[in-house]
Amino acid sequence: MEIACNVTRQAPLIAELVNLATAHWRGGASVRPLAGEDLATTFAAQLGDRAGAALRAVADAGRRLTDLAAELRQALLAEHPADQASRINSMIGRYGAQPYLVEDVGQPFHLHFHGSGGTQAEALGGEFATALALIVDGYGPDRFGVCGAHQCEAVYIDLTRNASRRYCSAACTARAKTAAYRGRRRT
Ligand SMILES: [Zn+2]
Repeated sequence: MEIACNVTRQAPLIAELVNLATAHWRGGASVRPLAGEDLATTFAAQLGDRAGAALRAVADAGRRLTDLAAELRQALLAEHPADQASRINSMIGRYGAQPYLVEDVGQPFHLHFHGSGGTQAEALGGEFATALALIVDGYGPDRFGVCGAHQCEAVYIDLTRNASRRYCSAACTARAKTAAYRGRRRT
């Protein structure tokens, strides 16, 4: 299903933007949250060539991404479903998200969610806000979390069938397993 494919593609990008811009600890190491040009360049490299180039061309891309990352983190980690829904709805409105079919080179028509007229930064806001709405609708409100491993505050989006995800990455899953094993051996 195309919507599911779209969400599957967006979810890791959403988490990565939030983590690049807001996490002070990742994978057991202290990190500096990125901002400005550093954030724009690093995140643009995660997008496709065309979207990455379009993002780098946006004036003040770093500040816009910082704002977007903060809004996304608050929506992801909202304590109450009603608060979460209202944050996502307000992002959808503010970024002018709007579904429309696009035919890219070499691809059949597929659905995008960024409204027309904005910059690539607004386009990302619209895409990401809609992806969160589709995840809440399709999977429920409890699919967002902060990594459970020691010294990691990266967020994750859990699209597993059985809602089993607890860690941001394979590396943190392995770290947590090792820590649990050592803890059991001590007792
Ligand atoms: Zn982690």
